[in-house]
Amino acid sequence: MAVALLPLMDGENLPSNFGRYAEYMGIKSTETLRAQLFGYFYNAGTRLPSAIDYLAEQTRDYWSLTGNEIVFQHTEFRYATMVSSEPTRKKLLERMLGKPLGENGSLRILRFDGERVKNLRYCPECLSEWKARQRPIYWKMDHQLIGAYVCSEHFCVLRSVEFGHVDTHGDVPVMTLVKASDGPIVRDVDSSNKVAIEEVTKRSARQRREGGAYRPVGSYRDLLRDAGFARSASLVRHSEVISAWSDFFGKEYCNLTGMSAARISSWLGRLTGWESYETPHPFMFIAAECFLEHLISSPGSYLPVALLKLQEGVALAEGVKCEGALHRNSDVLNFAGGAKKIWRMEASVHMWHIISNA
Ligand SMILES: [Zn+2]
Repeated sequence: MAVALLPLMDGENLPSNFGRYAEYMGIKSTETLRAQLFGYFYNAGTRLPSAIDYLAEQTRDYWSLTGNEIVFQHTEFRYATMVSSEPTRKKLLERMLGKPLGENGSLRILRFDGERVKNLRYCPECLSEWKARQRPIYWKMDHQLIGAYVCSEHFCVLRSVEFGHVDTHGDVPVMTLVKASDGPIVRDVDSSNKVAIEEVTKRSARQRREGGAYRPVGSYRDLLRDAGFARSASLVRHSEVISAWSDFFGKEYCNLTGMSAARISSWLGRLTGWESYETPHPFMFIAAECFLEHLISSPGSYLPVALLKLQEGVALAEGVKCEGALHRNSDVLNFAGGAKKIWRMEASVHMWHIISNA
């Protein structure tokens, strides 16, 4: 039985489309419509629903899309499976196209529950453009991705509605929830933090739209090493990573996304254990890519603490004169390492000079 629906817009998710249809038809709830379209009770907050082939068949005369096209273009499948292997992606795709299984058949999909901004988000520039052109107004999937707080088209900071949870109110029409008093999600960011947030947005939106080749978890250990944070796979300098990572994104963004020191440390510690999750959530991996690739491509923009201490010690050695009883004019002072605020200098006569750097 074919069901009439409005056309899906670019980057629109399914609940948004059902909500626009319900508003157009004067229907109060999309619940009956969803059950009719999926053949089971589909919760509007489910980001990776099942029975998409059934939905494609029901909507064939109006959408003319295959099940695969609906999954790839109008769900977060490609975003959610960023760090999943090809066999896992294939398995998840099959489950989304087919009928829903019981709880025992579900894949281990990891949610990201640290984000504090849980209400629906929109771009004021997008709204203005759609109104001016008399185009449909809808919720964009890319605006709801974790940490994607600027519009990937207009690069302005998104606004968040006062009421309307991203996982339960996605079928409520946009203009029902938007208010003039809605403020920008992030307010206190400097230009470098904004560049970092834009980079997360661009990568998240590209991943959602285009997908990409499987990036094994091990490649993130390589990035840490190339950025100077690891002597080996098992020796990562956690405190230095956390400090530089937090500076890169800024305090407010880290707070809003739940990217706390504990979460970064936990992510670092589990880099060798992510294989136990078939689909780890992509957000921390995307943030790590932005941060680490920025450091690697901009040498000198951040120096690990150990290297800073070394440079500091060398500078100190240059300004020190040896006045020991055994000093010879030909003696040369070299920086030989240090701990805390004590630098140790080594003269060519094998005398140790302990110099406080307080
Ligand atoms: Zn926009």
